[in-house]
Amino acid sequence: MSPSTTQLIIEVCYLVATALFILSLKWLSSPASARHGVLAGEIGAALAVVTTFFHPELVQYKWILIALLIGTMIGIPLGMVHMTAVPQRTAMSHAFGALAAATIGIAEYYVRTPHLTKFGMAEIALEVIIGSLSLTGSLIAAGKLQEVLPQRPITYKGQNLVSLSVLAAALVLAVILVLHPGYIHLFPVMVIVSLIFGVLLVTPIGGADMPTVISLLNSYVGLSAALLGFVLNSKVLVVAGALDGSSGFILSVIMCKAMNRSFTNVMFGAFGQLQVSAAGAKEDRIVRGASAEEAAAILGAANSVVVIPGYGMAVAQAQHKVRELFDLLRKRGVDVKFAIHPVAGRMPGHMNVLLAEADVPYDRLIDMDTANSEMPQTDVALIIGANDVTNPAAKTDQGSPIYGMPIIEADKARTAMVIKRSLNPGFAGIDNGLYYMDKTLMLFGDAKAFVGDIVRELAGGSH
Ligand code: NAP
Repeated sequence: MSPSTTQLIIEVCYLVATALFILSLKWLSSPASARHGVLAGEIGAALAVVTTFFHPELVQYKWILIALLIGTMIGIPLGMVHMTAVPQRTAMSHAFGALAAATIGIAEYYVRTPHLTKFGMAEIALEVIIGSLSLTGSLIAAGKLQEVLPQRPITYKGQNLVSLSVLAAALVLAVILVLHPGYIHLFPVMVIVSLIFGVLLVTPIGGADMPTVISLLNSYVGLSAALLGFVLNSKVLVVAGALDGSSGFILSVIMCKAMNRSFTNVMFGAFGQLQVSAAGAKEDRIVRGASAEEAAAILGAANSVVVIPGYGMAVAQAQHKVRELFDLLRKRGVDVKFAIHPVAGRMPGHMNVLLAEADVPYDRLIDMDTANSEMPQTDVALIIGANDVTNPAAKTDQGSPIYGMPIIEADKARTAMVIKRSLNPGFAGIDNGLYYMDKTLMLFGDAKAFVGDIVRELAGGSH
């Protein structure tokens, strides 16, 4: 085959891979087509990697194959983690992506010096800074989520000034290197300063804000990969990096909007420390508890039930029991729907994935706005391990950290039933006034065990 034909085939394969990446993102935006989206992304990535093997400049395969083997050995176990560990797994994937981007940029610097142009140096410097800070930032995020590092925001006086000075130092070093690419001794200093900045960037952020931070780091890694694409003159890398960078950024914006928080609040707000509720100390207030038997009787007699799942359902892995409850209630003619808050759980789509895993039909899932319009006609709002996403303080308490966050208005249903283990707060660290309302029944216990008890009661009662 002539070199020009080989080149043409390579370009066409890259074009197909690029199209598959775009289709993947498109399909991933709906639960019904999400599986196709994953497959398209996988085929696109595999095609891009295999095509790269046929580059005429490639003469040595040994090191590539060793790297491929090591990557596979790390990747397979990483892909098999439990659903609740997906946020930290994702952070680890970003750390590896950032490591790859940073090290290739570093290698390119040493290979090309002293023939580097100023423009080439600027590309490499920016790419290596973003890659390095994303590497350490992602590792800290993964550590916080895995709880090997303290989850609470670690803050001290003058922190933002220190962090910004470190970033400024990295940028100044980059500018000096652009002006004098041959100052080889400055390059490792710039890399180390950038690595330190990644640590300083993420340590002051609370563990609970990590999903948003991860999505932002995702966008940084994408940006770094796109820049690397320019350095290596690889169109497929430019497009894949740009898609990664922009989708990560859009996701962060969606998450911030759904929490009614700004980027600056997430990045510098040290959110997630325990707050005292403006509604008064919780010991002064009375809650009404109920047993599984009572809950089963109320649910069985209802016409309409809206289930509001949250992080606790994920922790308890209660989704299969919830599906059994759904089946039993439907058999009795109860209209059961699932109201999905955009930031319920700890990652976007968390509840959708869990309910899909338990084969809950998609058409039973309703979004927050639909749920709120139906809530006043709903007999029972059954809250399973959700807290913040139903907290009326978001609408009424101006001093609350979640004030302005849209919520599912479970307090508007005729009866609210809440399954959780205690009166402890959730992610935002604030008390929930819903628990003290006359219409609310607290069902204290682990979500899986309690739903299981209700299922047993209902199944026993129907025989
Ligand atoms: P949440 O406010 O964190 O509340 C979860 C509740 O689940 C806790 O109050 C806990 O109470 C209960 N729970 C924990 N384990 C349980 C178990 N085994 N059985 C029963 N209950 C259990 O969760 P949410 O209502 O889903 O709200 C999500 C929060 O995360 C929001 O504030 C959102 O802004 C934030 N967030 C979400 C995302 C995202 O992408 N989804 C990203 C970043 C932040 P007990 O300890 O009393 O059981």
